[in-house]
Amino acid sequence: MKTIGLLGGMSWESTASYYQIINETIQSRLGGLHSAKLLLYSVDFAPIEELQAQGEWEEAAAVLAEASLRLEAAGADFLVLCTNTMHKIAPRLQARLHIPLLHIGDVTARELSRLHIQTAALLGTAYTMTETFYIEKLQESGIRILVPEADDIRLVNRIIFQELCAGICSSQSRESLLRVIHALAGQGAEGVILGCTELGLLVSQEDLLSLPVLDTARLHAEAAALCALSPGWPFPAPLP
Ligand code: GLU
Repeated sequence: MKTIGLLGGMSWESTASYYQIINETIQSRLGGLHSAKLLLYSVDFAPIEELQAQGEWEEAAAVLAEASLRLEAAGADFLVLCTNTMHKIAPRLQARLHIPLLHIGDVTARELSRLHIQTAALLGTAYTMTETFYIEKLQESGIRILVPEADDIRLVNRIIFQELCAGICSSQSRESLLRVIHALAGQGAEGVILGCTELGLLVSQEDLLSLPVLDTARLHAEAAALCALSPGWPFPAPLP
């Protein structure tokens, strides 16, 4: 089994989900008392969030590169960056590392094509929904991406940073997210990407019976577990 290097803490609420999902996947594949071999470097999110807000992405990349190099030196075979937003600097991390990075956008694009979804709604932080680093990754696979209107981008971003990253799950915010998702479904979205690793804490497939829900934290964590079990790279085994 390969050793997974998790770079988490952004926020720790969703990194906890990664730990659980990775271990559940390994156990369901291998049975018995099997569990994941993994290393976790969990950063202090407050200074990272400040650097994001100030647009200091080079500085944020330097902090995460140092943490990634520590995971590599400690024996990680590949890196899993437990946030969609910080994939903005994924190329800069990969350039510093000798081990590969399992890109959350590749995992998401692969699931969209498995489900034959051509037009997808994307919810995430304002960075993820308005900048090119994530949307272009999905568009490379021929997928059309719909994002909410400006007021709803602000609303979703506020729910992520002021509530979900602080461990607050409110039914009012769940209703707001469902309204935003239904509006995008009305514009032709055939599925919704929960493109922020905390969104799965508030919205699930049961809330949206007829619309496929792609929870990027779950997909990324499951893909990491399967990569750990397989000799190939990056997607040797089918996702469960
Ligand atoms: N976890 C979030 C994401 O998946 C947001 C936190 C961050 O800004 O990294 O984008």
